[in-house]
Amino acid sequence: MTRWDLTAEEFKEAVLENIKNQFRRTIDQATKEQIFQAVALAVKDIIVDEWIETHKTYETKDPKTVYYLSMEFLMGRALGNSILNLRVYDVVKEVMDALDIDLNIIEDQEPDPGLGNGGLGRLAACFLDSLATLDYPAYGCGIRYRYGIFEQQIVDGYQVERPDEWLKNGNPFEIKREEYGVEVKFLGSVRVVKEPNGRDKFIHENYQSVRAVPYDIPIVGYNNYTVNTLRLWDAEAIRKFDLESFDRGEYHKAVEQENLAKTIVEVLYPNDNHYQGKELRLKQQYFFVSATVQQVLRKFKQKHTHIGLLPEKVVFHINDTHPSLAIPELMRLLLDEEGLEWDEAWALTTKTCAYTNHTIMSEALEKWPVELFSRLLPRIYMIVEEINRRFNHFLIKDYMVKKEHLHRMAIIADGDIRMAYMSIVGSYSVNGVARLHTEIIKQEVLKDFYQVYPNKFNSKTNGITQRRFLLLANPALATFITERIGSGWVTDLPQLKGLETYVDREEDQKLFMAIKQHNKERLADYIKEHEGINVDPHSIFDIQVKRLHEYKRQLMNILHVMYLYNQLKEHSDYDMVPRTFIFGAKAAPGYRRAKLIIKLINSVADVINNDPNIHHKIKVVFIENYCVSNAQIIFSAADVSEQISTASKEASGTGNMKFMLNGAVTLGTMDGANIEIVEEVGEENSFIFGMSSQEVIRFQHTGAYNPWDIYNKNKDIRKVLIQLINGYYMPDDPDLFREIYDALLDGEGQPPDPYYILKDFESYKEAQKKVDEAYRDKKRWAKMAMLNTANSGKFSSDRTIEQYATEIWGLQKTPVDIRK
Ligand SMILES: *Cc1c(COP(=O)(O)O)cnc(C)c1O
Repeated sequence: MTRWDLTAEEFKEAVLENIKNQFRRTIDQATKEQIFQAVALAVKDIIVDEWIETHKTYETKDPKTVYYLSMEFLMGRALGNSILNLRVYDVVKEVMDALDIDLNIIEDQEPDPGLGNGGLGRLAACFLDSLATLDYPAYGCGIRYRYGIFEQQIVDGYQVERPDEWLKNGNPFEIKREEYGVEVKFLGSVRVVKEPNGRDKFIHENYQSVRAVPYDIPIVGYNNYTVNTLRLWDAEAIRKFDLESFDRGEYHKAVEQENLAKTIVEVLYPNDNHYQGKELRLKQQYFFVSATVQQVLRKFKQKHTHIGLLPEKVVFHINDTHPSLAIPELMRLLLDEEGLEWDEAWALTTKTCAYTNHTIMSEALEKWPVELFSRLLPRIYMIVEEINRRFNHFLIKDYMVKKEHLHRMAIIADGDIRMAYMSIVGSYSVNGVARLHTEIIKQEVLKDFYQVYPNKFNSKTNGITQRRFLLLANPALATFITERIGSGWVTDLPQLKGLETYVDREEDQKLFMAIKQHNKERLADYIKEHEGINVDPHSIFDIQVKRLHEYKRQLMNILHVMYLYNQLKEHSDYDMVPRTFIFGAKAAPGYRRAKLIIKLINSVADVINNDPNIHHKIKVVFIENYCVSNAQIIFSAADVSEQISTASKEASGTGNMKFMLNGAVTLGTMDGANIEIVEEVGEENSFIFGMSSQEVIRFQHTGAYNPWDIYNKNKDIRKVLIQLINGYYMPDDPDLFREIYDALLDGEGQPPDPYYILKDFESYKEAQKKVDEAYRDKKRWAKMAMLNTANSGKFSSDRTIEQYATEIWGLQKTPVDIRK
């Protein structure tokens, strides 16, 4: 079976065989979950031949390969996407129809592999899709967490976290690769001995170790023969059953190693854009990075005798600083295992590693305490110290940096190792993820480093894959587009520009909006089923879905809803287009303020949704457990895309791009990639408000902002704020939201309203009013929505990956050819 000659008959046979062999059942006896397993295995059978062929091609042609190192891959479900990329969706659907089984329901049986928190992990997943589609040799390298991002339930308005047991029934798509196992060492000490040739030899002793074993998951390219690999590392205890060691009293050590293996891959840390200096997290980082770098070097040496060729064949891409230990780990292997001198090893390392910076917020920058780091990774620490020593020397010698100014740029300072600084020094490329973000890095946060290494810095605006987020998630719109401009957009998104011809045609506007209506009804059904709330699919669907973070300002959104509700209560004739405000957001379990904002949203929803006197003008919905699989239903149903972060804080955003692609209009600040979205679609087809990043940065420097001035002057804001503390939304516990009130006005030791919610409120309110007015003009709105889709071509991850491949990685396309 290959994707190109698959027949319905053949596929049906395969599914029935799998049900028999796996479960000893017939199709009528099988559960839906068993049918999912059987279908998935049949699909894997198709994939495997091409996977082998891809591997052979890479073996023969030996192209340069990127290893995309990431702590997170937020993949979403594989079945639908795989059969879509294989282009066998119709055949599979035909078979399921013939068996009287709903393919959608079978797809819904698959657990959503949530091995990531949000944008960073989803970016990694979109990149893998584009790399395979564009025929680039690439591996994703990460951790096979037993538990991914928690499943969110809302109980009494509060977030409750439940474990994500995504591996409970096994993963039909993965293959364990025992033969690629490697050992990773922690703790212990390093003994230095002089070799006869005068070189120091470093011997790591008394360590604990685990065996890293990879599980491979296929990444199917769209409409080609390429199947790349996502390699996720599992940890196993090293079992050398050695009776003597028991006698020597090392029983305890054996148990420790068993425990280390168990805990290391247990769970994904659920923090988004927030650093937490936990020892286990550092273990996770070194674990998968060391395993990857060791295994890549081993493979390289099987093919090449000259280690100097490494940068011509391998690039390690470091997705945020989380995998930045790749730099000292590669140094360790080159020095201690390959016997290179420092300068040779450093030259190779700094030609092999490239780094993406994802945030400028200080609370998200990783800093490991020297005490912890040197204890856990003693040899790696020695190398980092030497990197720092030589970097300081270089600054003094080549840049005349005065000794007393070194502290600002030092990799090790104040008892911490600054991972971003090490990443810059150890990489040949440092990129930001949108134009504004890269400028802020260069001019503000990492200015000193930009001055020293101007050529390392570059910008790569993020993107998303249109295969998952349009072709799969919005089939009606995909068909509409293909009927008009052909299907080239599926692998060449800028072709969507061709839709501009249709935006003024009334027939096409109506069809486009009918598709939107259909998708809104699909989401309304989902909301009814999961949240038990009736929403009017003819109201404006105004959606903010993303991680809950103060800088993303879900609070501003709900305060504005409270304001609108006050208007409706005060003026019985208040004129507004009915609006459904939809939220979806997970809060980090330890982020108290974020969780309280979820409770506030749900409390406001309770009051407003149950008030019969406002004639359903407003509904508020909090969708539980926002994740990739429900995202695929949410984006296509949006009229308004809320992208309202405090300017300068959101590095790029990618949710904004998914909405735009699906014909939602952006209501946003000039932040992250919103700037480039507006540049593509035009200000007249967006609703832009708020302070600029320059203004925000200036206020941060001067501190010249007093939210009380706004409170005193603006009675609408005052009323809303007082409702936070007078029990209006919480009669039984009127002080519940006082913390939010205080943070906005007094700050309790922090600067008040650090995200400028009150400062931007009026301007947000005005922009919201314009949304209301624009929506009343059906034709104008339809045209705006269509223009958003038509101008979203830039935001394909295919474009992003072409830029990485040519401007950073130096990859050659290596197509896989299957001759029949
Ligand atoms: C795209 C996506 C994100 C990122 O959203 P932002 O609005 O860019 O923060 C987070 N989570 C999921 C499930 C996504 O699909």
